Amino acid sequence: MANDTLELLRKQMLRLKSVTLTAKDKICFMEETECNPVDCPYAKGHFDRINDAIYDLLIHEDNFSREKIEEYAARHKVCPFEMSLDMSLFADMIICDYNYLFDPHVYLKRFFSEGVREDYIFLIDEAHNLVDRGREMYSATLQKEEFLGLKKVVKDYDLHIYRLLERCNKELLELKRLCDEYVCWEEEEIAPFVRGVIRLSEAIDHYLEDHEDSPVRKELLEFYFKLSHFLMIHELLDDHYEIYSQYTADNCFELKLFNVNPSKNLRECMMRGRCSVLFSATLLPIRYYKQLLGADEGDYEVYAKSVFDARRKGLFIANDVTSKYSRRTESEYYNIASYLHRIVQMRTGNYMVFFPSHAFLKKVLEVYEENFADEQVECLVQDEYMNEQSREEFLMRFGGGRSAREISSAFSTELPKTELPITELPGIELPITELPMEDPPACKENFLEEVIHMEIEYEEDRTLLGFCVLGGIFSEGIDLKKDQLIGAIIVGTGLPMVCNEREILKKYFDRQGDNGFDYAYRYPGMNKVLQAAGRVIRTAEDIGIVALLDERFLTTPYQRMFPREWREYEDVSLKEIGHYVERFWDEWL
Ligand code: SF4
Repeated sequence: MANDTLELLRKQMLRLKSVTLTAKDKICFMEETECNPVDCPYAKGHFDRINDAIYDLLIHEDNFSREKIEEYAARHKVCPFEMSLDMSLFADMIICDYNYLFDPHVYLKRFFSEGVREDYIFLIDEAHNLVDRGREMYSATLQKEEFLGLKKVVKDYDLHIYRLLERCNKELLELKRLCDEYVCWEEEEIAPFVRGVIRLSEAIDHYLEDHEDSPVRKELLEFYFKLSHFLMIHELLDDHYEIYSQYTADNCFELKLFNVNPSKNLRECMMRGRCSVLFSATLLPIRYYKQLLGADEGDYEVYAKSVFDARRKGLFIANDVTSKYSRRTESEYYNIASYLHRIVQMRTGNYMVFFPSHAFLKKVLEVYEENFADEQVECLVQDEYMNEQSREEFLMRFGGGRSAREISSAFSTELPKTELPITELPGIELPITELPMEDPPACKENFLEEVIHMEIEYEEDRTLLGFCVLGGIFSEGIDLKKDQLIGAIIVGTGLPMVCNEREILKKYFDRQGDNGFDYAYRYPGMNKVLQAAGRVIRTAEDIGIVALLDERFLTTPYQRMFPREWREYEDVSLKEIGHYVERFWDEWL
């Protein structure tokens, strides 16, 4: 989005140099990312050639995009990742992941290491994600089993390290004996263990310095980084942290320094610049986000009016179903499946339905297929483990099932037979090679409309119903425009699963005088709901429905979190939903 915005501005004559930073393992030219002159030809002699590469790119381009960096890095045979970092010194704007500002290990040291405040402005998109990302970046975990595993590995190589590992293991064993499910610790109580970690870390450091070719170097180095991170986070411990131990799902014993409230750490990072602007479509309730993202009381907040016409989204709230554990019965699954059936019956098109978990999804899917299976409705299911390719395939089905490349060839078969090359057909101004690749069906429509100079009305002949998980890969960050998605049905309120960490959060915020349940469960859950609902209306022309299938959305604690655009909604029962949805479509189609 940042790049698209810049392109729009450039078309309006903005002259600005920008660079996009891509993660090292993504932009690396090599199969194995071994950054040394022996293993990597781009590292070998990099510094002899990098100045020419930078100069070449600098004088020819304003947008140092990933593609351009790869092109120039390959041409000059230099490392593309290092080159992108160097280009940042010549850019007015840097487009990058949060890490480059906030991560204590990855932040851009060439800009921020002096510790002085410079003339930077930080524009932080999707800021709702920064709460959890901040917690992750500023927390640290060590597992007892890691010490035991390494002990076996180093036994024949260094007895001193072996003994220090044993000592740390013993300290963890002491803590383990006192831990049933989970235990929160005071800093003094883990001090003996931390002292052991410091000594171990120093010993590994010396060993690595003296044993460049050790067969256990890789294992020691990896563990050394873990210990260093743990010790660095330990230095930050204050009342924004909880220290706790617990057993993991595979029965390992772990000790965690948990940054419950990341506001202080995030704020310190943002203080490296003159100001920060954090934005997101889902920063509600704003007080919660301001508190956890490091804002001051006096910091401004702006609720931007949506550019979309709220009436183009039909919002329906079911008053007779819920995903509460106490009501997870066969009849409840049946009612939810009935809702899906009645909603999608009213208009053929693409829908996504979001469930609280894969288990819940499977239950409703079974009932739906058994009772409402219909040749006119195809169900597509989000698997528990999907790689990049299957994710893309899933999304492509919503985009018409064809890749941009396939659509290009489809055009050529759909056009009248002619000997002329396609770009020379009368009336066609858009060369086939310049078709917008990211928006297949819309671009197909536009393209044909341009050819015949008429508006075409497309009628879907089959409904596609995507069964997805709330908070999963399809409920955020996907952009299905116009008829690619005409409805989102959300089952449940998105509350995270009860677990030790959520309970620690809840108790922590209760002690702070806030509503712990809201902070640990309700607000993060509602954010997932808002994100999923936000998949439907992506452009000013979109029309669609959002159905919230949980009666709790009709209660005050949830309605308080509704965005302004949700003020108008229909409170519906299973009997009524079909009628209301039909009426909505009748109004708009
Ligand atoms: S130096 Fe650059 S190209 Fe070479 S392995 Fe490292 S990241 Fe990849």
